[in-house]
Amino acid sequence: MIDIKENFSLKKFNTFGFDIQCRYFSTFSNETELKEILLLQKKLNIPLMVIGGGSNLLFKNDFNGFVIQPTNKNIEIKNETNEYVELRVGAGENWDEFVEYCVNNNWGGIENLSLIPGFVGTCPIQNIGAYGVEVKDVILLVETFDIETFSTHSFTNADCHFGYRDSIFKHDLKGKHIITHVSFKLNKKVDFILDYGHLKTELLKYKIIDLKNIRQAVIDIRNSKLPKPEDTGNAGSFFKNPVVKNELAEQLKQQYPDIPIYVQNAKESKIPAGWLIEKAGWKGRNIGNAGVHSKQALVLINLGNATGAEVLHLAKEIQNSVKNQFGIELEMEVNVV
Ligand SMILES: Cc1cc2nc3c(=O)[nH]c(=O)nc-3n(C[C@H](O)[C@H](O)[C@H](O)COP(=O)(O)OP(=O)(O)OC[C@H]3O[C@@H](n4cnc5c(N)ncnc54)[C@H](O)[C@@H]3O)c2cc1C
Repeated sequence: MIDIKENFSLKKFNTFGFDIQCRYFSTFSNETELKEILLLQKKLNIPLMVIGGGSNLLFKNDFNGFVIQPTNKNIEIKNETNEYVELRVGAGENWDEFVEYCVNNNWGGIENLSLIPGFVGTCPIQNIGAYGVEVKDVILLVETFDIETFSTHSFTNADCHFGYRDSIFKHDLKGKHIITHVSFKLNKKVDFILDYGHLKTELLKYKIIDLKNIRQAVIDIRNSKLPKPEDTGNAGSFFKNPVVKNELAEQLKQQYPDIPIYVQNAKESKIPAGWLIEKAGWKGRNIGNAGVHSKQALVLINLGNATGAEVLHLAKEIQNSVKNQFGIELEMEVNVV
């Protein structure tokens, strides 16, 4: 049974904590409910938007449309051997609770992605990543529902065209398909990935290195660096780390010898956006109620009663200043609605 709410506040449904409303809101837990909602939305002739945990969203204004949220949470074992397990998970499952469940079962592959907010159904969209791991490394299949034809589809890992914070769901299928399930292949014999950031150092306090301790180390590092959305509204990294031509990276190295450069291939290098923003003098600064976090310049924050427009204005100022100083365009990671 669907329960449709009218003029519904999304304050608790976006991690920036913007006090905005949508025209209609409903959850769905299966295909029948989803069809019922979509038929109504088409009859009303208003825009549709799917929301998960609202942790990668910036609403500029109220949303005069229908917001729907998946609540199907089942985790099904589809196949299991001595080496691996294959799981099919409902889109409404909380991502970090799923990570915890896998770690507790000693299934490895996503422990480095601990404490990333959001839903399982959203994880393929921007191919979530942290501490040297991307979710594409363990995704087998993404199942979707086409909002025009009402048909269901399965996309293999290769079909998803995964890239750095990118997939087909941000391009050709954006606004056309709703993700209903994601299938993963996790390992029972794990190669730990520990070379990224301070993970190895953080793990020195443990006698053994196992999935539980890696998860805890990731959680501790993240808690020490990133603001908790419950306390300070934010959407994690606001910008992507720019990938630039190697010639530009070398030029910048002459000018700024401390610039961190991660060579990607013979032509391109990645530069941390947080470093550029900090070097441009934005760390800890604010414009009105929108600010740049004092510990991590890549995170823009709501200092109290900020609006989406204020955060967007700050983001644009940062983009201009980084472009002027370094000749690099910062691309937003957050979805603007
Ligand atoms: C404190 C903090 C830390 C973060 N750290 C990281 C990090 O380390 N690495 C990282 O990659 N990301 C990080 N993020 C970003 C964010 O958590 C991820 O992008 C996450 O996958 C978003 O999930 P969500 O369910 O909240 O998506 P939402 O914000 O609800 O939605 C994001 C987009 O996906 C669409 N969408 C949602 N569900 C569906 C669906 N079922 N079908 C089709 N479209 C859908 C929405 O319409 C929207 O366009 C962080 C965010 C915060 C607040």
